[in-house]
Amino acid sequence: MKLPESVKICEVGLRDGLQNEKDQDGNPLVLKTEDKVEILKGLIDAGYKVIEVGSFMHPKKVPQMADTDEVVKKIGEVPADVELRALIPNVRGVQRAIECGCKKVKLNVSASRMHNLKNLNRTPEESVAGFADCVKLSKENNIAISGSISMPFASPWEGRTPVEDVDAIIEAYLKVGINEISLSDASGMAVPNQVYDLCEHVIKKYPDATWWLHFHNTRGVAMANILAAMQAGMTQFDSSFGGLGGCPFVPGAAGNISSEDVIHMLDESGIKTGIDVLKVMAISRKVSELVGHKLDSYVLRAGRSKDLIGTQG
Ligand code: ZN
Repeated sequence: MKLPESVKICEVGLRDGLQNEKDQDGNPLVLKTEDKVEILKGLIDAGYKVIEVGSFMHPKKVPQMADTDEVVKKIGEVPADVELRALIPNVRGVQRAIECGCKKVKLNVSASRMHNLKNLNRTPEESVAGFADCVKLSKENNIAISGSISMPFASPWEGRTPVEDVDAIIEAYLKVGINEISLSDASGMAVPNQVYDLCEHVIKKYPDATWWLHFHNTRGVAMANILAAMQAGMTQFDSSFGGLGGCPFVPGAAGNISSEDVIHMLDESGIKTGIDVLKVMAISRKVSELVGHKLDSYVLRAGRSKDLIGTQG
């Protein structure tokens, strides 16, 4: 089977995972800043080179992420090859990144035309064109900027997303000067053959862009989608410790595919990630304690397959 020799994993648990956590009364569960900083230190120590630390959304809208600025300030200098990125909604997000010293930001747009028109009264391409001021301010301040497209495979509004719609958004991103693009299956509706086809298509059509894939495991298909994307030539994937997370706009959405499950599969397949899966598992156990519930991870339950060898008399 044709697979890459190595892949890059971005840990998104601190953002995509924690942003949806609620306490027993249904109120936002906000971790202490010190706990987030400890998790972040652990992730760097485990070998992650790309970590999504949080978001600069309005603190009232996403209280779980209100201290992202503080987390970035408290961690301070990180090794030169470690990239900390934060999700931003608009130019205010870039300003917050500048103020706290965050060196990378990520914008997002939904590929659903209906969703955009209903909620924002504009098409996805119009939304992306509106990001030009974010790009300008980021570039003036040496902040790397990337863009994400959520639901490029399918959405609860329209079902399968037409490829032409995805192309139009990619082209809008390239036009404003963003060429690092994440395809995010936030609704967990993608399937492997479609993932393969879309990945192959965008790699061929937009050779100057770099790609991230972001799969939620809502229907248990995320791992198969990663495999399909790797076969099409993709090498950069998001995942979340313990599979923590969900999506506030999509009913029943599960978290991202669990980091330790992905890293374990890659380890056993001989594909390098540079990340120590045992350290990630320890972080997931710690996070499970902090959020007060079990996490959705196979490897946390079963352990690594290599640890089984020789245990059966
Ligand atoms: Zn997500």
